Amino acid sequence: MDVAQQIKAQLDIVRVISDYVPRLRRFGNRYSCLCPFHTEKTPSFSVYADHQFYKCYGCDAKGDVFNFVMAMDGISFWEALKKLAEQNGIPLPKQSQAMDDKTRLRGIIREMHEIALEHFRANLSGPNGAQVRGYLKERGVTQNSAQLFQIGLSEGGGRTLLRLLEQRGFKPDQMVESGLIGRSDDGSLYDRFRNRLMFPIHDESGKVIAFGGRALDVESKAKYLNSPETEIYKKSNVLYNLHRAKQGAAKTDRMVMVEGYMDVIGATQAGIAEVVAPCGTALTNEQIRAMKRHSANLHLNFDPDAAGDKAAERSIKLLLDENVRIRVVELEGGLDPDEFCKKHGTELYRERIANAKPYFYWLADRARQRFDMRDPQGRNDIFKFLLPAIQGLRDKIERASVANDLAHYLGIESGLVLEHFRKMAADRTEHTSAPPRADPAKATDRILLVLLLNDESVRPELLGALRELPGWRQSPTAPIYQALMTMHDANEAISFNAVHERLGPTDQEKLASIVLEAASGSVTAEDGAACIEKMRRDDRETIARDLKARIKIAEREGRISDAFELMRTLSEHM
Ligand SMILES: [Zn+2]
Repeated sequence: MDVAQQIKAQLDIVRVISDYVPRLRRFGNRYSCLCPFHTEKTPSFSVYADHQFYKCYGCDAKGDVFNFVMAMDGISFWEALKKLAEQNGIPLPKQSQAMDDKTRLRGIIREMHEIALEHFRANLSGPNGAQVRGYLKERGVTQNSAQLFQIGLSEGGGRTLLRLLEQRGFKPDQMVESGLIGRSDDGSLYDRFRNRLMFPIHDESGKVIAFGGRALDVESKAKYLNSPETEIYKKSNVLYNLHRAKQGAAKTDRMVMVEGYMDVIGATQAGIAEVVAPCGTALTNEQIRAMKRHSANLHLNFDPDAAGDKAAERSIKLLLDENVRIRVVELEGGLDPDEFCKKHGTELYRERIANAKPYFYWLADRARQRFDMRDPQGRNDIFKFLLPAIQGLRDKIERASVANDLAHYLGIESGLVLEHFRKMAADRTEHTSAPPRADPAKATDRILLVLLLNDESVRPELLGALRELPGWRQSPTAPIYQALMTMHDANEAISFNAVHERLGPTDQEKLASIVLEAASGSVTAEDGAACIEKMRRDDRETIARDLKARIKIAEREGRISDAFELMRTLSEHM
């Protein structure tokens, strides 16, 4: 057995994967969850304990425990092997230390980051850090927070870290590769971070992989300077504070997203543990997926003036595409979380988080402020304002349900809303990656249900005709027909919302999908009559088939008089 096999034999893939994906559900020896490698709503990712193998039936990701860790962490085979061995206390035999060059370089860069971290922290707590410690205190960062977030200070000299790394024997090329050291045109080396407050950035397992530096010198060109991308740092994959926030999210099943390092610290001091920030980049799909593995409920707390701007809009679109449930945290007075906590106290901040409105309600409130609801033109404008956001939803059912919620919230007559959203659903071009949903209803059912919902004048007649036909009970939409009949008999007002409320989740989905599918072209009473006629024919055919089968059996069994009797019934029926 080689080393990899030896290590593999001592690992349980289910346990390793559940460290990354907290919500694995067990079905015998198979475990299932939402795929961490692609966006989906229903789980198609399976882990097979017997075979120590995983496979996604959506994106075809598959492999063993090493493949999984390599893909999730973006590391090489050797690194995955080493990581798993270390985590599980499995000793690595000597000869396996022979690693590829890239893996060795990453190890060296990690080591330099550990050294830099200690160096920056020592600077802050040392005699030269007195002024900056005062500054932190003034900004409301407690000593505990400074410790917890491992805040440090890079000195202004420009070569202190360089000297230190040289003493430890690192080579110039390695230092430049680490991103901690820069190289000028004349070939001389210098510290990238000078006179800055240093915020270490960690990977999900809590190892420092980069730094963000806030300028202490007001003259400085860049207020924030971040590490460049290196062998160990891909900024589009990393969320600041995720390694701590995931523990909080495990308890609260939510994440709070703020903009900057100081906001994360402010929120943490306010007792919000599940807080993350993108690291000086626009939010990416990779970051969203990393967060979503721990919770799909996101409280978004960006600067209020930024909430409407293009970057925030783009972030929200990405989040909706990844099926994240967004709530928007609103802080009055144009304050960011850090400022808000200082001015109004941490308790009020926690309250703002707890009472954050779902994104679409928040959007509706904005629309209400802007347009006059009493005015027909104003109502029309509100639709125009809200439609693009709803249209951005990937899932048709979700669009229908959000549309209904919003109509209700805004107090708008649902017929009008449905009309708008039908159009909208038709306009929406589906992502090619989403497989088309199987149509749950036959064309006849679709036409009949749309008529029954919307056209009062034909409803009694149609329902009467339906009752005469046994066929509707076999239809996949039978529960919807049943609800309509019951409501009609009880003289209840029939509307999409009213019927919707009576149904279970599966039938609700069917109903919404039928109503939205009927987007193109209107349905007439003649269409309805034609459907009833078709159902009649189908029923007759079913009965005829059944009679013919019984005749055959009777003939085979020699019951000739029975066969004749059945034949007579059949000829009457035809
Ligand atoms: Zn997948």
